[in-house]
Amino acid sequence: MNFLDAKSAPSREDRLRASIAFGGTCGQVKTCERAHAAGCTNLSNRLFTMAQGCQFTLSLAILNSIRNAVLIMHGPIGCGMCSVGNIGQNKAFKQLRDPASEGLIWISTNLDESDVIGGGEKKLAEAVRYADREFRPETIIVANSCVPALIGDDIDRILAELQQETAGIIMPIHCEGFKTKLMATAYDAVYHGILKKYVRYPERQRPLWESDLDRFRAAYRKSRKVNILNVGSMSRLDEGELRRLLEGLGLEVCFIPCYAEPQDFQYALETSLNVSICGTHDDYFVGHLEEKYRIPFVVDTIPIGKRNTGRWLRKIAHHFDLDTEADRLIQAETRVLDDALEPYRKTLAGKTVYLAGGEVRIVATAEIMQDLGMEVVGFKAHHYDRFIEPVFQTLEAVDAVPFSVATNQPFEMSNILTKLKPDVLITHVGGNNIAAKHGLPILPLFGPTYNYCGYSGVFEVARRLNKTLRNSEFNRQLSLNTPLPFKKEWYERDPFSYITYVPESNF
Ligand code: SF4
Repeated sequence: MNFLDAKSAPSREDRLRASIAFGGTCGQVKTCERAHAAGCTNLSNRLFTMAQGCQFTLSLAILNSIRNAVLIMHGPIGCGMCSVGNIGQNKAFKQLRDPASEGLIWISTNLDESDVIGGGEKKLAEAVRYADREFRPETIIVANSCVPALIGDDIDRILAELQQETAGIIMPIHCEGFKTKLMATAYDAVYHGILKKYVRYPERQRPLWESDLDRFRAAYRKSRKVNILNVGSMSRLDEGELRRLLEGLGLEVCFIPCYAEPQDFQYALETSLNVSICGTHDDYFVGHLEEKYRIPFVVDTIPIGKRNTGRWLRKIAHHFDLDTEADRLIQAETRVLDDALEPYRKTLAGKTVYLAGGEVRIVATAEIMQDLGMEVVGFKAHHYDRFIEPVFQTLEAVDAVPFSVATNQPFEMSNILTKLKPDVLITHVGGNNIAAKHGLPILPLFGPTYNYCGYSGVFEVARRLNKTLRNSEFNRQLSLNTPLPFKKEWYERDPFSYITYVPESNF
């Protein structure tokens, strides 16, 4: 893998042959993905689609979190305005790392109709100079949206020229929404910029790495340092739990990229191992770090659920020859957790659950559901690619369970929920307003102030799920008093009617 000579990262449709449209079962989607040369998942699409997200907005999930930075959104005022929703969280989370941190500072170049004719380069230059003069940030991040890309603004040239007069590092991010239907391409777009502008050997080590790169790497190969690549959907509690477990193995943990400072990416090279929390996020970054800086990595499962956490810990421990220690730790943690889960197994066993959200996260969370004795009746994933495979291995008997791939597309999920009638829905934050009108109890798939990862995360999910199921009156009243937004004829049809490749629908 080396895409760093290119201006921007390739789309995931091309690089990973990932899919955004599928309707079938878990067994079928696995078979189709493996046979993707035939194109059944990668080339599948919809004849009708409701709104879906753009990679520009998802890029902001990481970019907004970088400390000592000013973010310039180069585009019309509407692009990225979703950031308003997480200003408070962003500031609080930055200050958890460094109490002196500023909150989120962003500027929009506010391109209008006349800029579409005359170009937006002048406004961009003004914005960069203003950001540098007014805030003196360590870095100025420029997120490029559709309009400047379509009208041909040469942002790389302008920013290279401006770099000569600016103290902070200027980092362009090519995350134009129109370039991909697969939102997760955003992670590659952001890491592409980080790899080009932030990641470099630390100056103080220059004599060593310039004269003998092998000795430089050997020094860190032997160390106990590990980088954990955190994600925007993780909470500080999640980080605390993973740190607790890894420090229990005697490892020294550093979290990047979310809430890191630009300089942290230099220290990040002084590590023995890069570890992904979720393959959907990190393979582009760790792949390049291995190729360019010879740092090995682990991209496997996500530490959500007992089996997944155990598997994740074992993969890390193996790199450091700590297999026996990991087994001991996992056994001890599992024993304590099993005792703590007993009351919830009694109340939750036999309930049916439907999960919707990021592919890796929903399948991992289903492991917790099965552990509690619940029945998983369906999945809806934002997209589908090979990173889901190891997570599927922790589930039992799901091959016949319905599995659809859809970024948003609430009309399909509303149809599916009417047919499956689960006892509870676990779904992506922000994607449950229509689902709530079905009257279902809903547990958010993630939450910035809750713990989901590691062993304590399993307990927390069980505890909160139990509470949610005991009091679902609000959504029940919603269903009695608010109509569903789609015509009744739609609910009589197959939910996958508009998908161009459907192996054999169960509905
Ligand atoms: S799709 Fe393009 S124009 Fe729309 S929000 Fe995303 S970057 Fe902006």
